[in-house]
Amino acid sequence: MENFCWKEECGVFGIYNHREAANITYLGLYALQHRGQESAGITTSDGKCLHSHRQMGLVADIFHENVLARLPGRMAIGHVRYSTSGSSNIKNCQPFAIEYSLGSLAIAHNGNLINDIPIRKRLVDSGALFQSNSDTEVIVHLIARSPLPTVEDRIIDALRQVKGAYCLVILTENKLIAARDPHGFRPLVLGRMGNSYVVASETCSFDLIEAEFIREIEPGEILIIDENGIHSLFPFDKVEKKQCIFEFIYFARPDSFIFGHNVYMVRKKLGELLCKHCPCDEAEMVIPVPDSGIPASIGYANCAKIPLELGLIRNHYVGRTFIEPKQSIRHFGVKIKLNVTSEILKNKKVVVIDDSIVRGTTSRKIIKMIRNGGAKEIHFRISSPPIISPCYYGIDTPTHKELIASSHSIEEINKYVTSDTLGYLPIEALRESVSNPDEYCYACFTGKYPLPFPKEELEQLNLFRSTR
Ligand code: AMP
Repeated sequence: MENFCWKEECGVFGIYNHREAANITYLGLYALQHRGQESAGITTSDGKCLHSHRQMGLVADIFHENVLARLPGRMAIGHVRYSTSGSSNIKNCQPFAIEYSLGSLAIAHNGNLINDIPIRKRLVDSGALFQSNSDTEVIVHLIARSPLPTVEDRIIDALRQVKGAYCLVILTENKLIAARDPHGFRPLVLGRMGNSYVVASETCSFDLIEAEFIREIEPGEILIIDENGIHSLFPFDKVEKKQCIFEFIYFARPDSFIFGHNVYMVRKKLGELLCKHCPCDEAEMVIPVPDSGIPASIGYANCAKIPLELGLIRNHYVGRTFIEPKQSIRHFGVKIKLNVTSEILKNKKVVVIDDSIVRGTTSRKIIKMIRNGGAKEIHFRISSPPIISPCYYGIDTPTHKELIASSHSIEEINKYVTSDTLGYLPIEALRESVSNPDEYCYACFTGKYPLPFPKEELEQLNLFRSTR
């Protein structure tokens, strides 16, 4: 079977009407680097044609001055893509740029479609030639093949046919168009920078370029920015909002404002709720797993009235270039990234906090490391419920088989990770951390998917994931 690309966590950025559009997009993507480290790309428009550069690697490694100088124009979109081993491929780098009957068009996508496989099959059967195995290219084909007269109509026509999670930025010679799927799974925000408009996955992007945050792009909204200013279309039937709660737990940057909340404040609240629901009276201090466990640890320590100490220190310069000595029989593993502060841990009863357990393998290594560092008791607390189901809407989670909580009890997981006790945040408490809890997707914790899809597709997707 063809190896379909699972489009993971990604970040998107767009700017309209700025004389340094490419440079600003570079900065915008730099702030979104946490959303994807596999590849990055920028497409600009000079008003007549599009110019693109896409490459595997990190934003700062790709976009040197000479590369940015070859991206002229006052409009640009950009994309960062998440790293997975199986589908690393320059052909899957975005933005995708094409020539079609109405001119030129480039598109960048964050999210994941769930019905792209049958659409792709239909298109291939009718002669379409695909360059990548990304679901985003399906949207490109649907736009190019639509018989409707304007690009806006064609985008709506295409998006009516796809199901799933998408935040899109689309660039033509003279328009920037942003679209968010009707459920609003992924975040997308609108800002202003002088006379320029900007769109981005998260507001941390605006802070770097000193853009003013205007508002979030609504679920189901198609926002068009052109010489007439900005205007919005809402062409789809209204459905329930189902924003991804995992953006708050792990994925988004803590300094961002998305889904009506500051991410850091939500994480801190998750820590307070965790302390209330899973207290640990014997613990003398809170140790965060950096960086993902830090805000929740602050909330937990405040609530428990015990100190927070940095018993684990992270090396922030760990890159993809790390090479283990060839002759060595030792595998450095998590030590490359984390080390313990033994002076802090020696003979102490500690509560260690992380945001989530996925496979359990990292957690096990971390707990062992803390034990070797001299801790007397290790009480492990997780600021989210057990992850029991994969995400089909754009977060990279493994299959049921690999998700430890999918087939193991909390007691079994505790034994596996070798902590003294283990506690997870209950789902009801997770719902308390946001103001409109019904407006979120909790599928990874419940297995209840807001957007159901045919069994056959699910099996194909799972097959892909398990072979990745
Ligand atoms: P594991 O050893 O698989 O349980 O890894 C757990 C760690 O992975 C936690 O520290 C999380 O912060 C982190 N994590 C959670 N979700 C993801 C994700 N989708 N991609 C990468 N890391 C994640």
